[in-house]
Amino acid sequence: MGAPWTMARPMDLSFLAQLGIGKTNSGAFDGTWRKTKGEQLVVRSPIDGSEIGRVQMATAQDYAAASKAAHATFLRWRELPGPKRGEFVRQIGVAFRANKDLLGRLISLEAGKILQEGLGEAQECVDIADFATGLSRQLYGLTIASERQDHSMRETWHPLGTCGIITAFNFPMAVWAWNAMLALTCGDSCLWKPSLKTPLSSIAMTKLAAAVLGKQWAPLVALVIGPDADVGSAMLDDPLVPLVSATGSTRMGRIVGPRVAQRFGRSLLELGGNNAIAVMADADLDLAVRATVFGAVGTAGQRCTTTRRLLVHEQVIDDLQARLVKAFAQCKIGNPLDQKTLVGPLIDEASAKGFDHAVATAAAQGGKVVVGGKRASVKGCKGGAYVQPTIVRCPSMLPIVREETFAPILYMLPIRSLDEAIAVNNDVPQGLSSSIFTADVRAAERFLAATGSDCGIANVNIGTSGAEIGGAFGGEKETGGGRESGSDSWKVYMRRQTSTVNWGTSLPLAQGIQFGD
Ligand code: NAD
Repeated sequence: MGAPWTMARPMDLSFLAQLGIGKTNSGAFDGTWRKTKGEQLVVRSPIDGSEIGRVQMATAQDYAAASKAAHATFLRWRELPGPKRGEFVRQIGVAFRANKDLLGRLISLEAGKILQEGLGEAQECVDIADFATGLSRQLYGLTIASERQDHSMRETWHPLGTCGIITAFNFPMAVWAWNAMLALTCGDSCLWKPSLKTPLSSIAMTKLAAAVLGKQWAPLVALVIGPDADVGSAMLDDPLVPLVSATGSTRMGRIVGPRVAQRFGRSLLELGGNNAIAVMADADLDLAVRATVFGAVGTAGQRCTTTRRLLVHEQVIDDLQARLVKAFAQCKIGNPLDQKTLVGPLIDEASAKGFDHAVATAAAQGGKVVVGGKRASVKGCKGGAYVQPTIVRCPSMLPIVREETFAPILYMLPIRSLDEAIAVNNDVPQGLSSSIFTADVRAAERFLAATGSDCGIANVNIGTSGAEIGGAFGGEKETGGGRESGSDSWKVYMRRQTSTVNWGTSLPLAQGIQFGD
């Protein structure tokens, strides 16, 4: 890692050039950076609202060219043996590693995460490239026992085509890397449509990957930066894109899922969460406090896995509340590039208005703000939208608690038993992440059992956020049901083929059917 980046006024943007980012950038890459004719997007840092670059956005025409190039390159790429594809992915990972410091800074600058979390996200890109490299030698199929004499059966996995990748602002690099590193390894090409709030991150990542792939393979990492109604829509309806992996709000998933299904495309949806930690009476409260603060306050509450609900046994709720109020009040709100800051800005003013609305609604519905609840002003960052980490004590599940507000608001509710903790944990439309703090192995196992948490992620004595890439990541219900990253998530990027070979001299039929013999 290079020298720590400290605050400087005006903000020092000189490092962007090292990532190939200029003052004005093309918003479409199809192997070469196109001269796009879309509107100019002014990119502002959430830190202080200042301009950090411009992007000439892609049009539907640019989209069509990128899709065509990605598809044509896929037709050649799929012929390469998996381990050879893995070698390219390994080298892309080396490029991420070499640029980790710069990438982390860019994430901080463009998405507003504190620098530590920006560096963590850059590390996740390295990790998934390493994982995908190993995977390139492990795209295992099956051999299956055939019921027929002298027949063999097997199941194999083949490359699928172009993987469309729609990403949210809050993980501007890692979500693409989770998808793209696996997709490339699986023999697919990628076509990325990033959030318009974080386009520079997508340009930097595309440049790094394209440089490794070289001219011959660069269209495998195609990029289109443009409006949803234009390039987003084109992707959803594009028959050259058999898989659309979309990360973002449930609102977006409701549009993407049915649209892609309409043309029998496959979608991988990673949508909103409403994650709870249950704290039982026998829990280690020191651990619970630390996990809750990181889970609720980290990334200023803008992670899909952010802890939004704390379900606390009535015997310890007052004690835990007192400790958390103290800890929340001590979290330093400020410029995310300042090493002491723990809470950076929200992505924009609209998000801060969402925070104001949720706090007011919770109070109107019977909740009591016990810490935070207000906007914060940060010296030198007037144009940023900063808010205080907030805890609302609720008598029970209020209607607002069922909604995901992308801000650092923690709703704290009393529970009286493990059964109640599980019932309340599951009593929301979303199903991403959950955890229980307890010293009782029976309670822990019950939480993880079929009758326990209904979420895609269920943890014991660690919080809801900060997943490792080795496991399959995703959630149920309105979170969309998709799984990406580790375990066998790679299978969604491939097509499965079942083959039966008759190596004998007769033609027995399955199920013993006699047909005209
Ligand atoms: P968003 O839904 O506003 O946007 C996400 C992406 O979808 C953007 O690229 C956007 O341009 C695109 N999009 C929106 N409507 C579209 C349409 N009609 N056609 C094509 N593309 C469209 O979300 P956001 O504000 O960027 O991110 C925050 C949300 O993302 C939260 O709900 C959070 O929980 C969720 N998220 C989920 C995960 C996960 O893995 N489950 C990870 C990160 C973020």
